[in-house]
Amino acid sequence: MKFVFVTGGVMSSVGKGIIVSSIGKILQSMGYKVYAAKMDPYVNVDAGTMNPYQHGEVFVTEDGGETDLDLGHYERFLDIQLDRNANITTGLVYKRVIEKERKGEYLGQTVQIIPHVVDEIKSLLRLNAQRSGCDIQLVEIGGTVGDIESLPFLEAIRQLRIEEGYENTVFVHVPLLPTLSVTGEIKTKPAQHSVQELRRIGIQPDVIIARSSRPIDESSIQKLSLFSSVPREAIFNSYDVQSIYQVPLILYEQGIGSYMEKRLALKKSSAYESDLSEWRKFVDRVINAEKEVKIGMVGKYTTLRDAYLSIIEALIHAAASIRVKPKLIWINSEELEHSSPYELLKDVDGVIVLPGFGRRGTEGKIAAIQYAREEKVPFLGICFGMQLAVVEFARNVLNLEGANSTENDPTTPYPVVDLLPEQLSVKEKGGTMRLGAYDIKLEKNSCVYSLYGREIIRERHRHRYEVNPKYLPHLIEYGLKVTGVSVEGGRVEVIELRDHPFFLATQFHPEFKSRPLTPSPTYLGFVKAVAKSVGVISESVTVM
Ligand code: GLN
Repeated sequence: MKFVFVTGGVMSSVGKGIIVSSIGKILQSMGYKVYAAKMDPYVNVDAGTMNPYQHGEVFVTEDGGETDLDLGHYERFLDIQLDRNANITTGLVYKRVIEKERKGEYLGQTVQIIPHVVDEIKSLLRLNAQRSGCDIQLVEIGGTVGDIESLPFLEAIRQLRIEEGYENTVFVHVPLLPTLSVTGEIKTKPAQHSVQELRRIGIQPDVIIARSSRPIDESSIQKLSLFSSVPREAIFNSYDVQSIYQVPLILYEQGIGSYMEKRLALKKSSAYESDLSEWRKFVDRVINAEKEVKIGMVGKYTTLRDAYLSIIEALIHAAASIRVKPKLIWINSEELEHSSPYELLKDVDGVIVLPGFGRRGTEGKIAAIQYAREEKVPFLGICFGMQLAVVEFARNVLNLEGANSTENDPTTPYPVVDLLPEQLSVKEKGGTMRLGAYDIKLEKNSCVYSLYGREIIRERHRHRYEVNPKYLPHLIEYGLKVTGVSVEGGRVEVIELRDHPFFLATQFHPEFKSRPLTPSPTYLGFVKAVAKSVGVISESVTVM
């Protein structure tokens, strides 16, 4: 069992998740099997009950875990499927400990943070290693060193060093090195202090990956090495780059792969040398694409892009494969309620109506859908975006005035989108939506089938509402095509319109399974349609 523990210093949001993913990518490219986990210090049991405005998107795993968005980075960089166990929160740990206490598993003992809570963390990490059969488990500790909340996690990794041994554990610390705007000087002092803070709790970092806006000079590296007692060869620099997908390449060039291999006493698991060649080609396509397509992103959280992270990445993967650059134009759905879509959407080449919850901004989303449908602008609706496309169709094509989803208007005369029947008895909000991957059967003669090229697909979900089956015959009669239904229960999963260059919407979230080298067929279809509609690519374009 080998562990790479990654802590953050000075400030949060310095891109630790990308660094963890990048180290993983490098080790994977050297032939090792890696698994990645994130420990989050908040007391929520999972990310599902948090506002995306504060915490970014909720990443849904194949098994229906509602997890931290960093798991999305791990899955995309490593091209693996994680499970809910890869996200360990304080809430989850305490829940497990308290459940055990109630069952009497600690009978006679005083249940405490040390040893019980910390033991639970260690056992969850060991279980991950066993279950995944990985050679190396990367573990990211959320938050910043010095926070009260993360102390039990840091104590757990300190103990794991003693129990698993030096050769099986590496402490990687990722501090920010700020640049003084007046002098342009890169400062190492805050990083030195965060190393001291780590040492105070018994952890001496083995590796430092300094985060900075530009490459740091040798004298800063020497200073960091001296004050943090980390050898020069174990200091690396992750500076700002155009695309997050370049980070594995810049760290690899600095020799982090061979350093880790040596430090973890890894025996080469395969004969081949590190192979990042396909990755390099992908990065080249991302950063050197010239022709631009403008995609209107209609949603409620347009000022915090992390709220739609997987969708943005899926668009990057799709666009790279046909060598175009996606220019995302963010349109707040509430603004569309006051200004005409003919004004706000006039410059976009394609429209995505993003997932969402609750009434606010929905009329704006509906206006955007009507505009895309009538003006024949390529359209993609995801989850709520699909449900609202059905509402728009019911109102403006079937003339069902006031049609709506009961989520937005519980007293609508035409509830064309309604609660899933199994949700009627659901009282608790945490982890109770229809979550995770389900099989979907596609209709052969359809756009979505042409994109996936097979009849049964499996995609991830996160919703409580569905297209009301009562209205289906009426909707279909007027031209709405239902081209994908769930294998179990026949729920509407995909809708399309004919006589339109591209009008497709899905109940599922195809973005969660998009990968740099294998983009999601749904997003690829959409981006291709957008590129074709503005003449940026021709009909005959081949992918990659
Ligand atoms: N609010 C809708 C539902 O719960 C859509 C959810 C979503 O877009 N993820 O069904």
